[in-house]
Amino acid sequence: MNKKILLIYTGGTIGMIKDDKKNTLVPFNFDKLLKAMPELRNSEIHVDNISTKNPIDSSNMHPTDWVEVISMIEINYLAYDGFVVLHGTDTMAYTASAFSFMLENLNKAVIFTGSQIPIGARRSDAKENLITAIEIAASNKVNEVCIYFEDQLYKGNRTVKVNTEDFEAFESPNYPILAEVGVNIKYKSILQDKKNKKLVVHKDYSDNVVVIKLFPGIKIETIRAIINSSKGIIIESFGAGNALTNTKFISLLQKGILDGKIIMNISQCLHGEVVRGEYATNEAFKKAGIICGKDITTEAAITKLMFLLGKRLSDKEVKIQLQKNLRGEVSS
Ligand code: ASP
Repeated sequence: MNKKILLIYTGGTIGMIKDDKKNTLVPFNFDKLLKAMPELRNSEIHVDNISTKNPIDSSNMHPTDWVEVISMIEINYLAYDGFVVLHGTDTMAYTASAFSFMLENLNKAVIFTGSQIPIGARRSDAKENLITAIEIAASNKVNEVCIYFEDQLYKGNRTVKVNTEDFEAFESPNYPILAEVGVNIKYKSILQDKKNKKLVVHKDYSDNVVVIKLFPGIKIETIRAIINSSKGIIIESFGAGNALTNTKFISLLQKGILDGKIIMNISQCLHGEVVRGEYATNEAFKKAGIICGKDITTEAAITKLMFLLGKRLSDKEVKIQLQKNLRGEVSS
């Protein structure tokens, strides 16, 4: 039976062209280019394409843009077998993480891809990424939000961008890849069992969140100002979750918790996880009531917090949900 895939173009390098006057890359009419790609006229996979109102460089992505794309998936959910989202690589891991939370009970593939070189340029990685992403979306072997890039299929909310130059731009440091592409596509993951559950689309989010990256010498006043600025705070600490033991810093956090802030501790290291209470330097976090983020990425941590705070749950419930593995974003 023929499969139907919806290709959603949001912008990014994949669809950019050089503006000769300014000598910079700007988004252009992607539709024209797709029409000129015979590879997309496949008798087994029918591809329709739509575009967001204003295709952008993904550095300009805002949660309102996520909602625009999520709504396109929601409206077309029953009419298509899978979805491919073309997106800039810079914030792709944030959008993929956010979508994993926003699309509950997803039972079809939503594959993000893009490229390091525009599709029209010689030596571009775009065509291969695009065509394989479409094949994966139509394969019936994936029913979650993923990123496909340079021969690897990654779990969306475990992925980070690690390279600005190589074609291998992504990694999922604490989670195995879902499929490897060579002559054949070798799927390594087991289809998530979500059959019979209706898709629930969550469009509310909160932007009352912030990330503090600790560094030796960070000023207590800076930390105070950041903590005061937001309801949800992600602290990127050192190594296995360690931070300064300075009493002013610790009492700042304790006060934050008493004032109703929700604070989660994650690691600046890509690989490995936050280990609670292993060192005196993170024992204080535990005592203060700071949530341990284990091996979650910054991208998944911040979007999970935006999603949970957007649900208008009680603080207690947000903290409970934050510690749970909701969509495979954190190891249990
Ligand atoms: N700046 C571009 C973007 O994220 C980079 C890319 O697409 O690779 O939109």
